[in-house]
Amino acid sequence: MQGKIIKGIAGFYYVHIESCGIYECKAKGIFRNKKIKPLVGDNVIIDIIDNDKMTGNIIQILPRKNELIRPASANIDQAMVIFAVKSPEPNYNLLDRFIMMMDYQNVPTVVVFNKIDLAEDDTLEELSDIYEKCGCKVIFISTYDNKGIDIVLKTLEKKTTILAGPSGVGKSSLTNLILPQEVSATGDVSRIGRGRHTTRHSEIFNVSDATYICDTPGFTSLNIPELEKEQIRFYFEEFSEYEGQCRFNGCVHINEPDCRVKEAVEAGLISRRRYTSYVEIYDEVKNKKKY
Ligand code: GDP
Ligand code: ZN
Repeated sequence: MQGKIIKGIAGFYYVHIESCGIYECKAKGIFRNKKIKPLVGDNVIIDIIDNDKMTGNIIQILPRKNELIRPASANIDQAMVIFAVKSPEPNYNLLDRFIMMMDYQNVPTVVVFNKIDLAEDDTLEELSDIYEKCGCKVIFISTYDNKGIDIVLKTLEKKTTILAGPSGVGKSSLTNLILPQEVSATGDVSRIGRGRHTTRHSEIFNVSDATYICDTPGFTSLNIPELEKEQIRFYFEEFSEYEGQCRFNGCVHINEPDCRVKEAVEAGLISRRRYTSYVEIYDEVKNKKKY
């Protein structure tokens, strides 16, 4: 039988099999000698030991599409990051770091802005303009009146999606709307977005056929990946059309004269907030490397 690992705890892996349920499995000896360790999100073949008790053995891990370090998971199609347009105000720096981290791991990001019932239309237009320019899909929602939830569901369909967001933005409210009743009822979901430290492992939830979302604990401890400061600019997609057009070859768009990126910021073609995030991350990496 083929299924997907949705959780791993203390040597047990919980494998979801479409229209059958969740089997408690062990990864028998075969993995012990190999470097490969089963991950949440892995598509696996299991031997069923007992159909009533729903137990089995994982006998094979199917080839992975990708492998993420944080959260430790496999076969992630996309990341969905949730912020509120207001109360709390979005932490743009955190958002920009998140997009960069995901881009670095080749995972596209969908940015969801919740609480649009609290915002003006022109704020939304500005936000979608900025984040579409950096290559993200942008969705505006309000969990209060279900606005945009259909688009979220459509975007998740048949994919495995990492869900992230700081607390207070409405992540629990959204997951409660997304997940089927029986999953929400277990109470597990309340942990999503609560940032509790009780669980450091990742866990995914089955939304519907072939559709999964992945809880991501530890969102706030995002670190800049092992990048050289000169590489950071390549993760700011809206800079790319100016790349190579600055006066200096290899311009990092910080202090160099005749810099097209800085000109674009002045002209309002690149978001100043995004540029500020870039400079902050650049400085951070630069200072880290000094030690
Ligand atoms: P979490 O911490 O991200 O899981 O957020 P919750 O789902 O617990 O929501 C945090 C607060 O935001 C609660 O007081 C919710 O009632 C409120 N909230 C959630 N969605 C919306 C929304 O669409 N509009 C408004 N105005 N408030 C919302
Ligand atoms: Zn430049």
